[in-house]
Amino acid sequence: MRPIYLDAHATTPVDERVLEAMLPYFSDKFGNAASKTHSFGWVAESAVEQAREAVATLIGAGVREIVFTSGATESDNLAIRGVAEAYAGEGNHVVTTAIEHHAVLDPCRHLTRLGFEVTVVPVPENGVVDPERVREAITDRTILVSVMLANNEVGTIQPVEAIGAITRERGVLFHTDAAQAIGRLPIDVERMNIDLLSLSAHKIYGPKGVGALYVRLKDPRVRLVAQMDGGGHERGFRSGTANVPGIVGLGEACEILSADGVAESDRIGELRDRLYDRLVANVSNLWLNGDREHRLPGNLNVSFAGVRSDALIGALKEVAVSSGSACTSASLEPSYVLRAMGLDEERATGSIRFGIGRFTTEDEIDRAADAVAKSVRALRVDSPD
Ligand SMILES: *Cc1c(COP(=O)(O)O)cnc(C)c1O
Repeated sequence: MRPIYLDAHATTPVDERVLEAMLPYFSDKFGNAASKTHSFGWVAESAVEQAREAVATLIGAGVREIVFTSGATESDNLAIRGVAEAYAGEGNHVVTTAIEHHAVLDPCRHLTRLGFEVTVVPVPENGVVDPERVREAITDRTILVSVMLANNEVGTIQPVEAIGAITRERGVLFHTDAAQAIGRLPIDVERMNIDLLSLSAHKIYGPKGVGALYVRLKDPRVRLVAQMDGGGHERGFRSGTANVPGIVGLGEACEILSADGVAESDRIGELRDRLYDRLVANVSNLWLNGDREHRLPGNLNVSFAGVRSDALIGALKEVAVSSGSACTSASLEPSYVLRAMGLDEERATGSIRFGIGRFTTEDEIDRAADAVAKSVRALRVDSPD
């Protein structure tokens, strides 16, 4: 039997409606969106523009401010490297946080090899960045602050509105990685003073390999040096023939969230609370990692005293979960996010991340909770302290 899928932070299945919307663009409507001389191109272009509008609407942006990419990793790289290159004459300092995704931390590390300075703001135990620490980190040489909207391991929602107010006041650009947050909480790039925002289709029931970067056009107009040169697609920010079916899928995924995102988040949040309550009722000595209130509705991250996550995941054949981010789940290293939150070795090596999604049912939650409780008790009997 297929395990119960509770790893929605790693990826999500393509929604049937999204797949339906995409299919014609593989075969029948196969045109190149950059072909201006015939209807094949026009049909593809109009689909891409409709998708652009759907993405823009979901985050309160203008249509011309959306640049399609291959996913959030590319969007993060384009934002961070592209801004650094464009503003190198004005400053050489970037501020980020200790709990960012590798798609942000690694380009920042790359910048340090080019002579930039990077300040990594620490986080307290609840995994929520203090905006005042961001303020303190900004200097006269700072050109960019990058703080994620919601964390992919502990689901904590960051105070981006407060951080956006600070960066705007200091005249520093603000980038946020919203791959986990998009559609799950209201996002408004105007109200939040966000200048660049990364998102990905496959985290929101769209296809893998497509995403977008929001790039503010006015007040201020963000300058960006393209990291991919070629035909000058996407306002010159991202050359390469548009992935039309993928972009159509991303657009449809965004439309679904604009219509149903709030109701869906409520339902998913109830399932998450049900899972936690059932775990607490059936297992002793577990810790909730990350803030209780400021977290994504679909996220539950817990550590079980005396139980390593690799042992638990190995024993849990009937539930697909992970210990942290998909990128690092193969290693037995404790989560750097949990370490950054100051959690001790036992808690950081014992974390299990549950990601509840659109297609999770109540019955699956109950069965998963019971399976986890059973495995934890069995592992504790095998190795009593
Ligand atoms: C998944 C994820 C990414 C990477 O997105 P891809 O589209 O897979 O490249 C980046 N940041 C966060 C927070 C994510 O959750």
